[in-house]
Order: sequence, then C-alpha cells, then structure tokens
Amino acid sequence: MKTHNLGFPRIGDNRELKRALESYWRGEASQTELLKTGARLREKNWGYQKALNYVPVGDFSFYDQVLDTSSMLGNIPARARETGGTPLDRYFRTARGQSAGDEKENQISAGEMTKWFDTNYHYIVPEFDSTTTFRLDAQSLLDQVQEAQTAGVRPKPVILGPVTYLFLGKAENFDKKTLLKNLLPEYVRLLNLLAAQDVEWVQIDEPLLVMDLDNDWKHMVDQAYQALGSGSVKIMLATYFGSLEGNLGLALSLPVHALHVDAVRGKDQVPNLVERLPEHMELSLGVIDGRNIWKTDLNALLDQLTPIHKQLGDKLWLAPSCSLLHVPVDLKIEAKLDSELLSWMAFARQKLVELDILANALTQGREIVATQLEQNATALKNRKESPRIHNPEVQARLARVDDSWGERKQPYPERIKRHKEKINLPLYPTTTIGSFPQTKEIRSLRLKFKKREIGLNDYTAGIRDQMKTTIQFQEEIGLDVLVHGEAERNDMVEYFGEQLDGFAFSQYGWVQSYGSRCVKPPILFGDVSRPRPMTVSWIVYAQSLTDKPVKGMLTGPVTILNWSFVRDDQSRADTCRQVALAIRDEVLDLEKAGVSIIQIDEAALREGLPLRKNQWDEYLNWAVGAFRITANGVNAGTQIHTHMCYSEFNDIIDAITRMDTDVITIEASRSNMEILNAFDETAYPNEIGPGVYDIHSPNVPTVDFIVDNMKEAARRIPKERLWINPDCGLKTRAWPETKAALKNLVEAARVLRTAANI
Ligand code: GLN
Ligand code: ZN
Repeated sequence: MKTHNLGFPRIGDNRELKRALESYWRGEASQTELLKTGARLREKNWGYQKALNYVPVGDFSFYDQVLDTSSMLGNIPARARETGGTPLDRYFRTARGQSAGDEKENQISAGEMTKWFDTNYHYIVPEFDSTTTFRLDAQSLLDQVQEAQTAGVRPKPVILGPVTYLFLGKAENFDKKTLLKNLLPEYVRLLNLLAAQDVEWVQIDEPLLVMDLDNDWKHMVDQAYQALGSGSVKIMLATYFGSLEGNLGLALSLPVHALHVDAVRGKDQVPNLVERLPEHMELSLGVIDGRNIWKTDLNALLDQLTPIHKQLGDKLWLAPSCSLLHVPVDLKIEAKLDSELLSWMAFARQKLVELDILANALTQGREIVATQLEQNATALKNRKESPRIHNPEVQARLARVDDSWGERKQPYPERIKRHKEKINLPLYPTTTIGSFPQTKEIRSLRLKFKKREIGLNDYTAGIRDQMKTTIQFQEEIGLDVLVHGEAERNDMVEYFGEQLDGFAFSQYGWVQSYGSRCVKPPILFGDVSRPRPMTVSWIVYAQSLTDKPVKGMLTGPVTILNWSFVRDDQSRADTCRQVALAIRDEVLDLEKAGVSIIQIDEAALREGLPLRKNQWDEYLNWAVGAFRITANGVNAGTQIHTHMCYSEFNDIIDAITRMDTDVITIEASRSNMEILNAFDETAYPNEIGPGVYDIHSPNVPTVDFIVDNMKEAARRIPKERLWINPDCGLKTRAWPETKAALKNLVEAARVLRTAANI
C-alpha cells in the first residue's frame, strides 16, 4: 500500500508567501528574494510530507496553479505576453493587471478570476480564441522535480489535466473544445520530459469528472487519455470534490495506471470502484477530508479499509480527498483555540499524520498504532458528548420550527402599501449596500481595541464618530435610505460569528483565497445561538442622527455557513437553520427598536450550489428555507432587503423569488443590466436595485452612465419597482471616489425622476 498527497498549502505556516509576494509587488524585495522564499517554502513543505511514499511537486505556486498551467503551456494572454520584465513579471501582470503608469506603461486588464469548483479558492481563468496556440515550457516544473529529488523525497508531479484546463477557460464565439488536439502533443512532451527525469508517477487532475458532462466532454476525456496513457511515466488520474457517478465507467475504461477518487464526499462510490477496478489499474482512496478541519474517525475508517486493503493489496493508495490547499497548515502553532477544541481538529499537517497512522495500521496491524487510535477515539467521543456542542434549548426550538416561521404575514402587494405609508420613498429610491470606506483610522481603532490599548468607551466613541461622518455625508448628498457604514465590522461573517455561541476563531487558520489573499474562516463547531443583540445599538445610534431611514444590516445564515468551516456531525441544512434562528432574533430586535428597513446579505448563496445539478433543488430548498426563517417573522410594515454580489441569476431565479424579500440588490453594472433578463422573464414580482457602480474598480460612474443603465433596467422592470445603488459594499474604496460616485448616483436619480414626471 502507498500513501501520497495531492497538494500542500503553499502560503506557509505564517503566511510567508503572502508577505514575500506583497513586498515584491511593492518593489521592496528583489525577484531573487522572492524565488528564495518559494524554494524555502517548498523544501519545508516536502519536509512536512516526508513520511509519504510520494509527495506532490508542482502544487506550489506564486499565484495560482491554473495560471501556472497557462504559463507552462505558453497560453499567457497576448496583452501581457508582449510586455517587459522577466517571465515572472508577465505572469503577475496576467494575474493582477497593470495600471497605466508614468513610464508610458499601458494599462493591462487583470485576468478574470473565478471560483475553483465549489471551494472558496479563486483561479485565473484561461483565455482561448481562434488564434490560441500552445508551446510547452516546463522548465519551472522540471526544476522543482529536481529540487524535490535533492531534498530526498520521491516526487509525484501534479499537473492540471488538459480537459479540465479547457473546461475551465473562457472563449468568446469560439469552440474551445477544438483546441484539445493542439494541446495533447504538449502534454505528451511534458510527460516524456518528466519520464526522462526519473519520474515514476504523475498525478493529472481532472476534477471535471465529478460534474455532469455532455458526450463531447466525455469523449474528450477518452481521447486525451488514449493519447497520454501510452508513455513510460505512470499516470494517476485524480478526481475530487465529489463522486464520479455517471462518469465512473468512463474513468475505469481509461488507459491510466491509477485513479484517485474522493472517498469522503464520494464515499458511496468506493465499493463499486473496488469491485470494477480493472487489472491494470491501481486505486487511490482520498479518505481524509481535505475540505474541513475535523479529525477523521480512524477506527471506523480502518474497519472500512481493511477488507479493501486485503482485496487490493499493493494496488491501494491512501491520500487526503483533495489538495490540502483548502485547509490551514498547522494546528500546533495555534494559540487562540482552547485545548478541548484543538483536540477535535486536524489541519494539513495533522491530516498527514492521520494518513500515516492509517497506513501503519493497515500494513503492520492496529497494535502498532494502538495508542494513537485510542487517542483518536477518545477525542471523537469527547467531541460527540461535549456540552459545548449541544444546546438543548436550540434543538428544542429548531424542532418547533414549521413552515409558518418562514411565511410573511401579508403578501408583497399588501406590504408595499404599508411601506409607502410608513417609509414614503420617492421614485427610484437611492441607497448603498452597507459598508463605507474602511479607512486606516477605522482599522487602527479596531486593532487598538482588540489589543486592549483602548477601552470600550473610547472605541465606541471613535466608531460613533465615523458613523456620524458617514450619515452626515449621506444626508448632505441626498441619498434616500441611509446606512451606518459598518465601521465596527472587520468582516461580514466574522463580526457575527464572534458574537454567536457555537463559533470559534483560530489565530493562524488561514486559507488561500486568491494570489496573496487569505481568509480565516470561522469554525462553526456547536449549536448556534445568540446570547445578546449584536447590531441594535449601532443602528439605533445611527438612526438617532437623521430623519431619513437607516437600514439595519445583517449577514444571512447561508452566507455565514458557506464562509465557515462547518461541523460535520449533523446536516448542513440543520446547522443553517440554527444560524437562521439566531439571526432571526436579531431581525426581530431591530424591528422592535424601530428599524423599519432591514437588509440581510446573502452574498454567498450561489457559492454553495452543489457541483451536480440534480442536487441543486435540495440545497436551494433548505438555503431559501433558512433565509425565510431569518427574514420573514417581521410585520408588514418592515421592509426586508437582501443583497447578492454576483450577476448570474437565470438558473436560480425561482429560488430567489421564493425568498420573498421586498427588495433585492444585485451586481449589474459590468454586464450592462443584461442580467435583468432573468428577473424580467419570470417577472420577479418585488423590487430590485441593479448595481450601477462597479465597486471593484476605482472608476467613478458618470451621471449619464447611471441614467442609461437605469433606463435599460426600466425597459425590463417597471420603474416603480427599481432602486438605484452600487454593485456591492464600499469598504474597499477610498472616500474621494466614493463621494464622487454617490453624488452622481443621486444626481442620476434626480434626472430620472424629472424625466418620469414629464
Ligand atoms: N453589507 C456588506 C457590505 O456592504 C455586503 C458585502 C458583500 O455583499 N460582500 O460590505
Ligand atoms: Zn456584494
């Protein structure tokens, strides 16, 4: 039996890569220094993995593994290819773009970024068109193979497969599938080069195999591996993030030497695979969860694996389910979590230890690791029985929840009448999405408070000052529905997680989101409840400063769930409903405090969509159900808003409609309102604010741009139901551009109202 890993986090124990990259980009460190940091991190990571039979090589990246693939295949977009500097500079330029500089530098737009399957990691989307050619330059990978060999580990290069590579790319008015035939010879050359460097096994990732594929794509997979499978290097075809389902037969029919499957999310496929595994093929089972941070139940797993090991013998490999990129590096350095919580968890390094224990137990008998197995069993038992996880009140309350909890008392047409009486807004009401610029001042205030350099009173006074400025500005320029600006929040999920029971926060639990950006997901470990109001006093204060309505501002249960590491001992649906009840309490408290407009952000509702279409309904049902529990307990006079920061709605519009919010704000400026087609066709019955200010860019939208876009919107949706607002929160923007943009927004509303009256 063999052990291996599909990929290790590259950011470093202490985010060394982030620091090195950012100082290089700022021009403070040389390229040599950056390269050295890279080499050091790789060596360290291999050291962490040296108990494995094969370690991944090529999983390290200075930005993104998909961009690395583009780079290796000579498919850097033309706009960055012909620019100056070293290849690494061009690589970064592709990822990050370049703003027009003084030295006659041209502006280069950054590569598009999108989510890697259903993770929170973002890759740079490959670009294809009719002129695309490929030209292999594998030097960097070959060098790393040699580095690993020198470091004394057995390297298993990891490359992104040709079919998934094409699948992930974008091509306008061009059939990217036609590129496969040009791509395959480059992959063949690559495999030959690796073979010449004494590489025995290569891992080729084709995660597209866990998705619904049409016949064309299936055929391409077959074609690709018929071409690649005949070389002298052995191929392990890797799939992860789900089950092969209908693609299982195809995967088993390919001339590859081994197949890796996700045996956590795709546990059910294992017996079938073991039974049907062809003579020439080895099987790698990804049994350690690479997507979550809980300890594995090693004893239960051994029960499951022992007969499989008996049957497959040397043909069995064990590994984490997917690359460990999606979990933090090391629990040992964690200083913030208490020892009880720590004893329930495993980060990347601990997961590899689990793998080692499994391998030893299988090959040498469980006695050899008896102590470790016992410790594991104790930890799991403690977790299961811990009173910190179970809150009978929460469970009893959840059991009482029925459909009526998610039902508004009046239908929208009646509610709108009450809103008109109570809130009295003009045609095309203007508002923002919640946050205002998070200035240095605000951040230092929060930091000082956290470090206890200032007390609660000074902190509150400081934040209130910020809110005052923000409210005054909004009043001054004439926005209709104001916000408090979210100065008290560092992050829209963390802020709530920190105040809810059932959540914990690590100190170093960073996971790469994209490039040098990392996130530290909250850890949702137990039954969730809200000990006390979380936002009420801030909103009430903000409201006391103005006669205009101030929106209450909350994060919804689905988004909180999708951006956290979530307990795995009950269904996500139940966990989500618990969060929903906690946020519902906040909604009702805001209402009681006189707040008549409450926004509940569901920025990440779409992110949770399963990879398989046939699982969408189930997810959308509980996700929308949870949102409804949160939002719909209010009276008719209270107006509920939601915000979603994306622009794809066609395929989920029914679910969105079922949320029954009074107003939804969405991202729309970059698609020129095209996305409203979705809302138009199904006649989305309530109000909608299509974003007219792209907050991802420092550009200020002109009055004309906003007016034109809103006119475009009014062609699809009756103007009585339209709001005017930015695409998303303003927290990453600076004040000057924010001021200019919002003034234009208000002016555009004035122009539109005047035009409407004629
Ligand atoms: N209310 C949040 C803000 O304005 C929403 C952010 C988001 O949707 N990502 O920052
Ligand atoms: Zn948003």
